[in-house]
Amino acid sequence: LKSLLSNPDLVMDKAYINGQWVDARNGATFDVVNPARGDVIAKIPDLSREETGEVIDAAYKAQKDWAKKTGKDRAKILRKWFDLMMANQEDLAIIMTAEQGKPLAESRGEIAYGASFVEWFGEEAKRVYGETIPGHMADKRITVIKQPIGVAAGITPWNFPNAMIARKVAPALAAGCSFVIRPASQTPLSALAMAKLGEEAGIPAGVFSVVTSEDASGVGKEFCENPKVRKLTFTGSTEVGRILLRQAADQVMKCSMELGGNAPFIVFDDADIDEAVKGAIACKFRNNGQTCVCANRIYVQDGVYDAFSAKLKEAVEALKVGDGLSEGTDLGPLIEPKAIDKVKDHLADALSKGGKVLTGGEMAPEGGQFFLPTIICDATQDMKVAREETFGPFAPLFRFKDEDEVIEMANDTIFGLASYFYAKDLSRVIKVQEALEYGIVGVNTGIISTEVAPFGGVKQSGLGREGSHHGIEDYLELKYICTNV
Ligand code: ADP
Repeated sequence: LKSLLSNPDLVMDKAYINGQWVDARNGATFDVVNPARGDVIAKIPDLSREETGEVIDAAYKAQKDWAKKTGKDRAKILRKWFDLMMANQEDLAIIMTAEQGKPLAESRGEIAYGASFVEWFGEEAKRVYGETIPGHMADKRITVIKQPIGVAAGITPWNFPNAMIARKVAPALAAGCSFVIRPASQTPLSALAMAKLGEEAGIPAGVFSVVTSEDASGVGKEFCENPKVRKLTFTGSTEVGRILLRQAADQVMKCSMELGGNAPFIVFDDADIDEAVKGAIACKFRNNGQTCVCANRIYVQDGVYDAFSAKLKEAVEALKVGDGLSEGTDLGPLIEPKAIDKVKDHLADALSKGGKVLTGGEMAPEGGQFFLPTIICDATQDMKVAREETFGPFAPLFRFKDEDEVIEMANDTIFGLASYFYAKDLSRVIKVQEALEYGIVGVNTGIISTEVAPFGGVKQSGLGREGSHHGIEDYLELKYICTNV
């Protein structure tokens, strides 16, 4: 891996805690595996729960001075970090593809996307405004100030090894919190490379630490039970989110949760079909279907069902499966064997209930963790894919007749993260965008992620928002001050 980089020092095989690059005290490590080739690319320190507690102690001490800095001083450091991330975009992208599998072009995009949060929240650091409220009595003055919550701890998944961390650490640091991250054990190298650049940008020791550990549940418990942690921010499955919320309840800890989705993608009769196909490809097959905002259920109205399926089939068959590091690859491998099992399970379930394969439906010739992008038609609401996120390159097409029917089907889920629809009629557009019970609605677009907008879900898809001027609020407390004059 190092031989592919202009700055090989970005490949770090130590944990970064309290400004030090360290091994686990007992010398334990875990392997990072390249999902395209199956070879071990790094051995990373496997820190214990006890060591995690020490990291939190250091973060607790460091936060005090960090919070005393002006927003402008914190902004300068974040700006420098953003610049360094962009200057090292290519290397960071190669590291990401090597450990995560996504095509290099997508990794480059993710580095820019992740860095954009660092830039954005650096700017927001200067704008944490409070307010004055006219007093309720003649001798009372009321002011409201915003203060950092304290130590924030984060747990992130492997699907966006840079951006999922950037969306949390940037607002935390901008607000004046310190931040301890436990990245997914499949993809720690991207997190460590970010820390390396953060160190160079001047983030003080202890303000940002990376706890590498295979023991997700032990570290998760320490984050929830250690009284020095005041904020937990998690991106991952709803299942694990529920566990963490239960654990965090004992300390009444503030929590932000970006959990699972089950995104509907609706194509109405009046849609621009070519645009809808383009949007569906971008939305369904980005990161090989492994994002929480990927279309999971594609609903197509009767009148355009055949035309849309034919065009989607053609576009899907043009996608090239392969090693993300090779030029021209559209779809990399899935992250691990159990991800392949889930795709196969949803496919078998759909076929047993009347679904028919339009294209794909089997492993790619490359074998390993490569699966062919797949479309099935005649999908129905009783299939597993209607209820659960596949998190893979599997696109089920459902047929519907009218607006009310599709709105009901689209909302018939415990999830409420992203949703999409294609239509032109203005009253239909307004009716549907308001009726979808989702935190995010893409209208005539399949790509919705940007640092300037609030990203987050309703129902069991989560709590809180990441990005936009709202995103920093998750790391701030309001203090109301009543002054007797
Ligand atoms: P995914 O399917 O994307 O891996 P998970 O919710 O299983 O979603 O994992 C998201 C992150 O949460 C990963 O970093 C994983 O290691 C971590 N994790 C899994 N189980 C727990 C747990 N019990 N406590 C804390 N973190 C966990």
